[in-house]
Amino acid sequence: MDHEAFRQHGHAMVDWLADYFRDLEQRRVVPEVRPGEIRAALPSAAPELGAPFETIFADFERQILPGMTHWGHPGWFAYFPSNGSPPSLLAEMLATGLGAQCMSWITSPAATELEQVVMAWLRDLLGLPTAFTGVIQDTASSSTLVACLTARDRMGDAASRMTAYCSREAHSSVAKAFRLAGIPADRVRVIAVDDTYAMLPEALEDALAADAAAGLVPGIVVATMGTTSSTACDPLRAIGELAQAVGAWYHVDAAYGGTAAICPEIRPLLDGVELADSVVTNPHKWLMTHFDCSAYYVRDVEALQKTFRTSPEYLRTAQDQEVANFRDWGIPLGRRFRALKLWFVLRSYGAEELRTLLRKHIALGHELASWVDAEPQWERMAPAPLGLVCLRHVPPELVGDEPALAAHNAALMARVNATGEVFLTHTLLDGRYAMRVAIGAWRTERRHVERVWGLLREAGET
Ligand SMILES: *Cc1c(COP(=O)(O)O)cnc(C)c1O
Repeated sequence: MDHEAFRQHGHAMVDWLADYFRDLEQRRVVPEVRPGEIRAALPSAAPELGAPFETIFADFERQILPGMTHWGHPGWFAYFPSNGSPPSLLAEMLATGLGAQCMSWITSPAATELEQVVMAWLRDLLGLPTAFTGVIQDTASSSTLVACLTARDRMGDAASRMTAYCSREAHSSVAKAFRLAGIPADRVRVIAVDDTYAMLPEALEDALAADAAAGLVPGIVVATMGTTSSTACDPLRAIGELAQAVGAWYHVDAAYGGTAAICPEIRPLLDGVELADSVVTNPHKWLMTHFDCSAYYVRDVEALQKTFRTSPEYLRTAQDQEVANFRDWGIPLGRRFRALKLWFVLRSYGAEELRTLLRKHIALGHELASWVDAEPQWERMAPAPLGLVCLRHVPPELVGDEPALAAHNAALMARVNATGEVFLTHTLLDGRYAMRVAIGAWRTERRHVERVWGLLREAGET
């Protein structure tokens, strides 16, 4: 592709994307494709000869696009949102265009320093202590693994007796991180939760005491602000005090809910995060920034680097003593220029407009919760502090019959999803099947929430 062809196709593609955004609502959220269908339509070997861009793009529209799920759709209520805003997209285009690879300061000085600046901006917006230093990781899963590995190494010889703690509602990435950090399953303590699905500090206290009495060494405690099933918020201060008292690393997983702490009225849900050794929150979920962009904050940068620093001759630079080389702050060597999109987002919207957006989603969640509460045949299954509403339909004839309720609600959700207008996913709360309506896609308006509620009620009545 020569220079002029690039210009022409580039312009056309931006036009294509502008139309895609404008008409997104007309598409199905989740495509109607069967497993293997897309793959079967594609050649089994790479082409020997190149094709014109027009041909490739036409195939993209014909073969790939019909198999895409549209996370930016206003009817997106599944999992959690992954918000990609236009300024973030344009910054991604620039970062990719520059071909930036940001492993060391010298490999893109502005990228390293912009990352330091935007991580400090975000830290301050979230009300995190200035003692935290930020670094962008690819995902919260990686961030939590980084925390576990650092915690383990900081323990020295005691690591062989290390125990780890999280609540029953912690994200699966926490258990995965414990496993990858070499903590055997029989030294992982899954702590009980209260009726709001938040960790019970008394249960943690008992587990810590039992382990200490058995000669084990509590190594890491992971608390969650905004659990994946129901956005439950663990009591961070009480948990942090217990972790500190036994010298365990304290990691707070606020992957989804954390970014909402830029709103002062939500910040109390992060109260006690001041006690943490590390905390992760994902701008790539709710904060208008494209995947991937996970903000990891750590107090003891020395401990972090002790775990991740390598300095082979071929990576040494003259500036190593005076700069941050982010290759030493996580697992991969090569790093994308992720700070650019977050900078574009923070500058385009400003904190005030981001707060307005988050508040809109949270208010819509509260509104939906009130509609559910007002319907005798519908049950809201957990508090809804952050715009996620967990609910189920309970027809009188099924009251008390959990397996039948699970089957009934699964069928109901399948019917609603089959419309293609919206997409919901489910979870289990205390073993009970719950549909999740996660409000947070930035194109979602009140009428979309009314629509999903209407579809649910219709499905419940038939
Ligand atoms: C989404 C989420 C994760 C995993 O996030 P990734 O960035 O996809 O790894 C972990 N914990 C919580 C609480 C989450 O909401």
